Amino acid sequence: MPQFSYAEVAVDAPIRDARTFTYSVPEGMCVSPGQMVQAPFGPRMADGVVFRLSRGTDVDPVRPINAADPAGVLLSREQLDLAEWIAGYYMASLYSAIGLMLPPGFRNRTKAYIEKPAEEALQGVDSEFAARLLRLFKGRGLAPESSLRRGLSVDYRRLLDRLVSEGVMGRTWKWRGSRATIPAADSEPSHAPEPFLMPSLHQAEALASINDAISEARHEAFLLQGVTGSGKTEVYLQALARCIESGRKAIVLAPEISLTPQMAQRFRARFPGRVAVVHSRLSQAERRRAWWGIHQGRFDVVIGSRSALFAPLRPLGLVVLDEEHEWTYKQEEMEPRYHARTVAMRMAQASKAAIVLGSATPDVVSYHRALSGRRLRLLRMPQRIGLSSSMAGVSIVDMSQELRDGNRSIFSRALQDGLRRVIHEGNQAILFLNRRGAAGIVQCRDCGYVLKCRSCDTPLTYHTSPERLVCHQCNRRSRTVARCPNCRLSRIRHLGIGTQTVVKELEALLPGVSSLRWDRDAADEAGHEAILERFAGGEAQVLVGTQMVARGLHIPSVTLVGAVLADVGLHLPDFRAGERIFQLLCQVAGRAGRGPGEGAALVQTYSPSHYGVALASQQDYGSFYEREAAFRRVQRMPPYSRLLRLVYSHFDPVRCQREAERLGRLLRKERADWAMTEVDVLGPAPAYNSRVRGRYRWHILLRGQEPRLLLDKVLDKAALRDGWVVDVDPVTTL
Ligand code: ADP
Ligand code: ZN
Repeated sequence: MPQFSYAEVAVDAPIRDARTFTYSVPEGMCVSPGQMVQAPFGPRMADGVVFRLSRGTDVDPVRPINAADPAGVLLSREQLDLAEWIAGYYMASLYSAIGLMLPPGFRNRTKAYIEKPAEEALQGVDSEFAARLLRLFKGRGLAPESSLRRGLSVDYRRLLDRLVSEGVMGRTWKWRGSRATIPAADSEPSHAPEPFLMPSLHQAEALASINDAISEARHEAFLLQGVTGSGKTEVYLQALARCIESGRKAIVLAPEISLTPQMAQRFRARFPGRVAVVHSRLSQAERRRAWWGIHQGRFDVVIGSRSALFAPLRPLGLVVLDEEHEWTYKQEEMEPRYHARTVAMRMAQASKAAIVLGSATPDVVSYHRALSGRRLRLLRMPQRIGLSSSMAGVSIVDMSQELRDGNRSIFSRALQDGLRRVIHEGNQAILFLNRRGAAGIVQCRDCGYVLKCRSCDTPLTYHTSPERLVCHQCNRRSRTVARCPNCRLSRIRHLGIGTQTVVKELEALLPGVSSLRWDRDAADEAGHEAILERFAGGEAQVLVGTQMVARGLHIPSVTLVGAVLADVGLHLPDFRAGERIFQLLCQVAGRAGRGPGEGAALVQTYSPSHYGVALASQQDYGSFYEREAAFRRVQRMPPYSRLLRLVYSHFDPVRCQREAERLGRLLRKERADWAMTEVDVLGPAPAYNSRVRGRYRWHILLRGQEPRLLLDKVLDKAALRDGWVVDVDPVTTL
């Protein structure tokens, strides 16, 4: 047996690249790639994952691994390779990338403990500190460092650190044990699988291409563009069946958690007992059971949100991303800031798996790739399945015309008539607001002043019951105001609309109407599924909701959909604003007319001629793409360039600006020195969301075919200070 004495370990530490660190393997310890270890990093012990073993090293001095995980190897070679790719591409630490793939409960396992000092050892130390410290041990010989620190003031914490570093007090490290949860056998009653539907002509064509790739175990990427109701899900289901027949497994990503239960149900019915559902709303125990169950090979299909991509499913034969244009596929809040579509493409390529990106309104970047034949094959399903194969009639209502005609209601006359008809006929309607509360902005009718949050400058939104102004960026709540803080003259109006206002006006318009609210507030209380079930069960005549209602509903009795105000978000300073409005409105329009009745969608707007609004009402993706692509080309924005966004945040606005300007100058200097004229440096500027949780934000955009090359020059000089967030391929620049 050859002796490997050294290990390359990804360590849980704040670094910006795919680096590993070298450690020696103590005699008698056995470690393998894919196993967790505990290793010293600076003055502390850190969690790590072994990536490689070697017999020799140039590193000197080499420190030894402290402990190896008794659970053994958790991660496959494929997963290690993928993590290296993610960390490299998204400029994140390797540990943050591999962390995506660890079993639930396996992060933050290393904990520091302090040994109780003898009383003599503390002689000469501040006596009040000594007394408090000894009390905190509560008679134990060893106490968690975190609990000691919690019990001490800032000054005393420093004193503690000093005593530990001087060796007056000993520190040891403990490792939380691994809890491999071996799930019990499936309790799901196994019933006969639901039969497959006879594919339509378009479905058959799409399936033939996808199934060819699956049968030949060949990697190929498809963009399945099909209007809502064209039968994309049925295509996924039949491709999954082929994948399972070929002895391999599949991952299906669906963006909104609220959509998953319904969708998951369809998958479970086809593959009883073979489907694992994974999303962030599961409890820790459920998540553990799912992970270990998948690890043991109990499931053929994993369906879930973004993170389901990293389920330990092998061998992989097919990946499906439903609603591939959704922004929630990008992890924005923390490292690694990956896009699930990009990672899925990479994964599929590495596993020789097929990948299907499905959407009615593909991301402009994806569509561009498909048209230019860049490793993405376009499959089209232009028609709805079944009787009502025609698209819903969509009409645009100009709200300024309504005002001119003396209608001050939030409902246009057309929408009022529509609602009356729906109720009269015993059908159901959906009213859609662009974003939670975003339409509830509080604005002065005279001077146009918009009330903003004191901590983060985000427009505040008005909520009734209890009456409050709420910031949806930092959740700060404040009392409503009667007078405009800017001009002081006029009375301020809560001009905008939230779901609650819509419900109120609805009740005034149609006394006795029953309605249900579906926004994040309501869903947090009752649960998405419950609201949806109640509406589908006919408990209410009208469903009022935010963009959640724009997705995935299959309710035949819905014959009218109204977008109450389509403009919100149209004028945001972001190059994707038009695309976003178009996608949302298309989805809204796609809600109506799913049943045998004639469907109708009404879009109320102050900007009826904006192409994002006008073309959505015609469900004309092709024309929209052309307009949008032309705009992007002129602006030199993706797909005609790539972006790299740098965001700096600080509590002090002056220091924030100064640091942003320093980096901006440096980037421009490097750009000139290296003649990298291909890369544009935009900014620095305050971000549109210029303050978040009390911190000011400035940003810089790098734009070009390879914007990364310019940043590398700065990194080479170690001139990118801590506190900068690097976002590769950002989905938003707000
Ligand atoms: P999409 O995912 O594109 O919105 P779905 O797959 O949900 O479309 O299909 C829409 C509706 O048409 C569903 O009710 C589905 O059961 C039905 N359907 C899909 N394919 C067929 C088919 N080949 N024959 C009959 N009905 C179908
Ligand atoms: Zn005012």
